[in-house]
Amino acid sequence: MVVAAPDECDPCASRSVFLAAATLRAMTIRKATRLPGRAESCWVATAPATSYPRYEQSGRTNVAVVGGGIVGLTAAYLLARAGIAVTVLEALQVGRQVTGRSTAKITAQHALVYAELARTFGLERARLYAEANHVGAELVASLVRDLEIQCDFERKNAYAYTLRPARKSALDAETDIAREFGFDADLLDAAPLPFATTGALRFRHQAQFNPAKYLVGLADAITRCGGRIFENTRVGNVKRRPGGKSWRIESGRHHVDAEGVVVATHIPMWTPIPYDKRMRARCHTAMAFRTTSGATVAVATANGPPPELPKTAYSSRPRWVASAAVSRPTPSRPCVTPLTGDEPP
Ligand SMILES: Cc1cc2nc3c(=O)[nH]c(=O)nc-3n(C[C@H](O)[C@H](O)[C@H](O)COP(=O)(O)OP(=O)(O)OC[C@H]3O[C@@H](n4cnc5c(N)ncnc54)[C@H](O)[C@@H]3O)c2cc1C
Repeated sequence: MVVAAPDECDPCASRSVFLAAATLRAMTIRKATRLPGRAESCWVATAPATSYPRYEQSGRTNVAVVGGGIVGLTAAYLLARAGIAVTVLEALQVGRQVTGRSTAKITAQHALVYAELARTFGLERARLYAEANHVGAELVASLVRDLEIQCDFERKNAYAYTLRPARKSALDAETDIAREFGFDADLLDAAPLPFATTGALRFRHQAQFNPAKYLVGLADAITRCGGRIFENTRVGNVKRRPGGKSWRIESGRHHVDAEGVVVATHIPMWTPIPYDKRMRARCHTAMAFRTTSGATVAVATANGPPPELPKTAYSSRPRWVASAAVSRPTPSRPCVTPLTGDEPP
């Protein structure tokens, strides 16, 4: 089950509940997995480590891919599969940044989006967006299957729910347009959750996986197709070479010359607008506990929960309580909020 709350008055809050469900889901997927006890994504903590070399020479390639997240590695795999020489340069380790710390759902459902897109951009553009989402999700599914990537991929229904009766009409409108776009979607009186909801939009045949494991498998497939991957290799600059037909990608004292570059760094770099200076990392706090019978679990959220949104999600067997706080800026790295709700160190 993949769950999102579409109460968009506070998108962060929606995501918080979403993460609570995700954490719960992670626990359900990995019944036998112990929590790492570290401030680490459960996906990353349970994925095999990679050890690709650092880029320590200068050379040429057809296409250089900067960034080894899902965007960079998918592009690199498709290029390598098509017989194009590809070199991936990753500042840290593949798959362990945003992708490896995501909620791990592979869905074309994003709370309530299609009715709003149709209103804002027109039906045909909204339909294109829907198709792109569907194709992208199915691409992941087909790569998992064809490359036999062990990443806990599971088909699931996805739900967007509301706690407010007034929002039911929004669910209704979204259901109609989702059906028009070809999704197997329907409206339920309640989400299958252990607290009261007033309606839920269900998309059938969506999926969840361990994104960090998925990218470890995809990276392996890239090298099997002849692609090269370098880790711990931060690109400092990408510039057009004289003549304008190729690019020089610089990392420290070394460079790669390439006919094409895919910049897949998540935060756009080398653009007229310095996004990297404008953006700031945020974190969502989520915790999961295995309770003993009769135990009382008290969790304080960092900024206090928005009205109406439950702080916790439950599973009966095994007995898990997952809790999430609202999103907020983080000084520099992912954080775990203490039970008191204090600021992270
Ligand atoms: C909390 C959260 C939950 C989410 N949940 C979902 C979800 O459930 N489903 C979903 O579909 N989407 C989800 N998303 C969105 C999704 O995770 C991202 O859109 C996606 O993972 C981005 O992938 P990416 O490859 O662009 O970025 P990343 O995975 O961050 O990869 C970018 C890579 O570029 C590298 N890099 C950066 N700068 C350089 C440089 N100068 N040189 C070399 N390498 C560099 C980084 O180290 C990193 O490895 C979520 C996002 C967040 C934040």
